[in-house]
Amino acid sequence: MDFLLPHDVQKDRDRFVQFLQHHVKPNLHQWYRDEAVPRSFIELMGREGWLGFSSSGGHIEEHAALTQAIRVEELARISPGVAVVVLVQISLGAKGVWLFGSESQKHSLLEPAIRGDLLLCLGNTEPTAGSDVASIATRADKVDGGWRLNGTKAYSTNAALSDRALITAVSDPEATRNRRLSMFVVDLSAEGIKRKKLHKAVWIPSDLTRIQLDNVFVPDEALLGDRGRGLQQVLEIFANSRLPISAMTLGNAVGAFELGVDHAEKRRAFGSPILSFQAKSFEAADLYSRMEAARLMVYKACWARDQGLDFQLEASMAKYLTVQIAREVSTWAADLFGAASVVHEHPVHKFPLDAWASSLGEGTQDIQKLIIFRGLTQLRKVAESDMS
Ligand SMILES: Cc1cc2nc3c(=O)[nH]c(=O)nc-3n(C[C@H](O)[C@H](O)[C@H](O)COP(=O)(O)OP(=O)(O)OC[C@H]3O[C@@H](n4cnc5c(N)ncnc54)[C@H](O)[C@@H]3O)c2cc1C
Repeated sequence: MDFLLPHDVQKDRDRFVQFLQHHVKPNLHQWYRDEAVPRSFIELMGREGWLGFSSSGGHIEEHAALTQAIRVEELARISPGVAVVVLVQISLGAKGVWLFGSESQKHSLLEPAIRGDLLLCLGNTEPTAGSDVASIATRADKVDGGWRLNGTKAYSTNAALSDRALITAVSDPEATRNRRLSMFVVDLSAEGIKRKKLHKAVWIPSDLTRIQLDNVFVPDEALLGDRGRGLQQVLEIFANSRLPISAMTLGNAVGAFELGVDHAEKRRAFGSPILSFQAKSFEAADLYSRMEAARLMVYKACWARDQGLDFQLEASMAKYLTVQIAREVSTWAADLFGAASVVHEHPVHKFPLDAWASSLGEGTQDIQKLIIFRGLTQLRKVAESDMS
């Protein structure tokens, strides 16, 4: 067993950190003020090859999960809100097309998405259904040459910025719960689409947008994957995306921890640096150890995916543990700054809020526990049958 990061992964990380120094750090203040990441940034990410896939001569290759996790961790250390913009483009949008798209969809959607020329998002959650994906109500009615979509997607990251959305809808209302849904790639400039950007306090500068679909026509070619398999497909997209969102949440924790410790080394109270008080240094030691344990879980989940092994249990454990630690570390770090931490513009202010949001994407903490418990029950059954 080797816990050292492979040399090529380390080199990729160093190059990416340089990129962030030049193209993210200097712009952050403006992006937070605008509450928007400019399209040109995703285009630049695409040109530089940071969007999760490589394409050459019509051949598309996905980057290793570990490489992608380390990139997103680095980005989230600076800004979880920018990291989520990139994550949605790669892990919900491009990945959805990569997993389920036809050859022609891969050509027309995935290739420009990898270049950063076409922006993709995913609309699943509705006002009346989030965790319980099978209960969504958006309808897709079959018509001549395509489908008519009606419904509301309540919370969709990047939908204000994106060109297309992967949308789940009920295509077969009479079918069983597992066969009722399908996925569609919807042009967000189509007639009948209304978008409303919501005002939120988390993951700034990403946008969170409501998509209203009123009798929107999509052609037959817009069906993504198989008719009636939308539930399984969107859950598979979420299962894959738990790897980068765990890495992003880890980055959130690390970013907050570093700010907090740097400050507590310098800030003096009662004649001593705050970090020299054993109460604080012990807290730092405890949080650092648990952050490192969460990191190992993220890396193990990525390793399993990169080996072609089942990674669902590991990915859910990684998501669960990173959210727990990010929530604790971020509030701890904010506390170290005292009153300064509540000011909007303070660098630490965003971290507790972003850690709170990270529990919601790709399944809440409760949903991760459901998956983890299911996984451990299966493992116990296998162990029992091996014994008998
Ligand atoms: C900033 C942000 C960005 C988002 N981006 C997107 C996006 O791009 N696309 C998209 O489709 N959605 C997006 N979402 C929505 C997100 O995926 C949902 O909020 C999430 O799936 C939870 O659904 P819900 O909000 O409807 O809560 P609910 O599903 O109603 O859950 C409410 C509470 O009940 C608990 N609960 C539910 N079921 C169970 C159970 N079986 N056992 C125990 N407890 C349970 C949950 O854990 C939660 O605490 C985003 C949300 C936020 C806040």
